[in-house]
Amino acid sequence: MNRHFQDAQLKALLASQWGNYGLPPSQSCFGIHGAIVTHYFKGGWYPVGGAKAIAQAIIPVIEQGGGVVITQRRVTEILLESGVAVGVKAQNTAHAKADMETYFAPIVVSDAGAFNTYVKLIPPNYPLAERQKIQAFPKGNSMVTVYLGLKESPQQLGFQGENHWIYTTYNHDAIVQDPPISADNLPKFCYLSFPSLKDPLAEGHTAEIIAYVNYDLFSQWREQSWRRRGADYTELKAQITQSLIQLVERHYPGFQDLIEYAELSTPLTVEHFDASDRGAIFGIPCIPERLDQSWIGARTPIKNLYLTGVDTLSLGIMGAMMGGVKTAGVLNGAFGFFKSMRLVYYICKIILCDL
Ligand SMILES: Cc1cc2nc3c(=O)[nH]c(=O)nc-3n(C[C@H](O)[C@H](O)[C@H](O)COP(=O)(O)OP(=O)(O)OC[C@H]3O[C@@H](n4cnc5c(N)ncnc54)[C@H](O)[C@@H]3O)c2cc1C
Repeated sequence: MNRHFQDAQLKALLASQWGNYGLPPSQSCFGIHGAIVTHYFKGGWYPVGGAKAIAQAIIPVIEQGGGVVITQRRVTEILLESGVAVGVKAQNTAHAKADMETYFAPIVVSDAGAFNTYVKLIPPNYPLAERQKIQAFPKGNSMVTVYLGLKESPQQLGFQGENHWIYTTYNHDAIVQDPPISADNLPKFCYLSFPSLKDPLAEGHTAEIIAYVNYDLFSQWREQSWRRRGADYTELKAQITQSLIQLVERHYPGFQDLIEYAELSTPLTVEHFDASDRGAIFGIPCIPERLDQSWIGARTPIKNLYLTGVDTLSLGIMGAMMGGVKTAGVLNGAFGFFKSMRLVYYICKIILCDL
């Protein structure tokens, strides 16, 4: 950017979609930034029915292939025999007193992320050089999200389902370097979107505000369980919620009056539900060094153990999907990726013919 542009405000504008991958311009890979910005040139995509529609669409495919989908299980260990992955040990999270379960499999594919897989799930007595490297690698940024239920359609304020990036500064780096959001330190940035305006099946109106926050602001409640983190935590959440609503209100007067219900998720929420390290919603940060790491990829040093999802390639929903294609390609033998893509090509052709 510095090579091609001189105007600081123009550079800030061109880099302003960095929130999509969670890293300000001084830290991010320009290639990843370019790929994400370019994929928005023709608009964005939203799953009809919301995010759960992705799981609902894929489960029948797994079952038709003879698979079984089992939920409410936390894998506690990847089982190894003579250094080869043979299955997993899992805890039933719906019944804390239930016995540990063991599942054996010829191939184990982990979507729990490189950090969880290498550091938490492969038994610690199995020597792995990657473990220390992953622990020493820079951490991803954490965020808070305000989920809003609205009384009326936000269309009356002119919104049509587009994403908004609201900044109060042209200095993108200051947004993540500055002290955390608090009542005395109002946020300098937020992302605003309206899921219900994108989803033809939505029954009510909703909005979502996302902002950066320092994980350490919440670390004192880390060991306490979900919904039992006490009055101070609830008070801090209420302050942050108000400051983010105020930031949006300053730019779009009347927004506040539409709100019926507000709920804030913190990095501890993401850590609880998603098991991501420090609740970083994009996981391992996409700094240029990430692309050089041997542990970013579908293959692992352990025979029959593979990674999938964002830590095999790039990040976000598209990154995770292509991570799945990449792992399937590796498992599909020689030229596996091209075999998968050929299949995708024929399926698309059939769908387009049907249309
Ligand atoms: C609030 C929010 C908004 C986002 N918005 C967008 C967006 O608009 N566009 C976009 O592209 N991306 C968005 N993202 C990021 C996107 O959701 C992720 O990049 C993507 O889901 C990563 O996919 P994945 O399959 O690699 O991992 P995940 O979707 O994180 O799936 C990993 C799964 O593994 C489970 N798991 C972890 N450890 C264990 C264990 N030990 N046992 C059993 N299960 C385990 C987790 O619970 C989780 O379900 C958003 C994320 C958040 C949190």
